[in-house]
Amino acid sequence: MRFGIRTIDEIDVHNKTVLCRVDINQPIDRKTGALKDTTRIEACIKTLRELSGNGAKLVLLAHQGSDIEYKNFWTTEPHSAVLSKLLEKPVRFIDDVCGPAAREAISSLKTGDILLLDNVRFVSEEQTLFETNLKLSHEEQAKTLLVRKLAPLADIYVCDAFAAAHRDQPSLCGFEQVLPSAMGRLFEEEFCVVAALMEKPERPCVFVLGGAKINDAFMMMQAVLGGGAADTVLSGGLVGEVLLWAKGEDIGERAREFIKKEGYEPLVDTAKELLSKYRDKIMLPCDLASVENGARVEHKAGAVPKNSLVLDIGSETSAKYQKVIRSAKTVFVNGPMGVFEEALTEAGTKAVWDALADTQAYTVIGGGDSITATKKYGRTPDIDYICTGGGALIRFLTGEELPVVKALRYGSKLTKKQI
Ligand code: ADP
Ligand code: MG
Repeated sequence: MRFGIRTIDEIDVHNKTVLCRVDINQPIDRKTGALKDTTRIEACIKTLRELSGNGAKLVLLAHQGSDIEYKNFWTTEPHSAVLSKLLEKPVRFIDDVCGPAAREAISSLKTGDILLLDNVRFVSEEQTLFETNLKLSHEEQAKTLLVRKLAPLADIYVCDAFAAAHRDQPSLCGFEQVLPSAMGRLFEEEFCVVAALMEKPERPCVFVLGGAKINDAFMMMQAVLGGGAADTVLSGGLVGEVLLWAKGEDIGERAREFIKKEGYEPLVDTAKELLSKYRDKIMLPCDLASVENGARVEHKAGAVPKNSLVLDIGSETSAKYQKVIRSAKTVFVNGPMGVFEEALTEAGTKAVWDALADTQAYTVIGGGDSITATKKYGRTPDIDYICTGGGALIRFLTGEELPVVKALRYGSKLTKKQI
């Protein structure tokens, strides 16, 4: 047991039917149906190889979004070819989730076989539960169609979907109520890395928080500064702008309008509270950049012209942040310093990522766009740990008990099926 959850070492899967929930949600090319990236599929291979190698009859449950996640869903069929290739053995796909065809396919599995079911979010209960905010308790989730139909065919439930651990849904939290459960290797690894970051980071420990999810960033700041994990927070992106606004610095009319339009204005008060409690630990940008007539222009924070829209941190701020990162022992990053997708406003993000590559510190990155930036600057090999979970990681770092962690702790106490 680790963190109150069973690991794969503690389950005997030989000849047992194992339901394994993975997060292999990847960007899809909607025209060709091809997967544009396979990072998450690669990340769960070690768990699948181990379970299948130990003689499980393995059934994989997964979801796949489309371009607009949560609104359009895509079949998991293309994933089976990638899985087969990586595992060097056939992974059968069936275009059914929990109907008679899927159940028949599960019942006919032999030792070591692997079956991938279609997108679990095709089953309405899986989706509507979070789309409509209709909260079902974990006991109630165990009564949904998916769990009622599949659990009787299975012996054990394994969750390897750390990236989805903040989702309160039947495929993630329902099976643990009725089946002995365990976490997979990827889940265990990601859990350990982030737990260590919160509990005993090597110091100085620096959190770099930027990007556009201001509320999440403020919740993380509160947790890591209040709990003592962070020695310093470096702020950038919209997060930095709202902090500057709270401090009373002029960030320009257009940035304020943008923040208001996005509905983030109430967070200025949250920023004020954070600054009053932790002013000496939070670093704010001292200069900012905008684009004027096709050229990058930098301004002192507090002196942004009325019509300039701030889109990056300035070069003086970048140099200061680089220095802090280079003398740290642990650095966690979530969120870019500016609109790094555009050439004229990527300098701040690039500077921070350059420092991440050459610091001696243990470096951890999480968040979809932060991972994209890491790839863009060719820094993937230099980062010590890239977490596949964005939302889950952020929720974890805010100090919440994740729904899937809670469910797994329950299912880890079960020794036999409760049906
Ligand atoms: P992550 O996906 O790594 O968690 P976020 O989603 O929170 O990061 O933020 C990434 C987005 O924030 C990027 O698309 C980037 O263009 C945008 N962004 C960063 N800085 C600014 C800014 N100053 N103004 C507007 N958008 C910004
Ligand atoms: Mg993002």
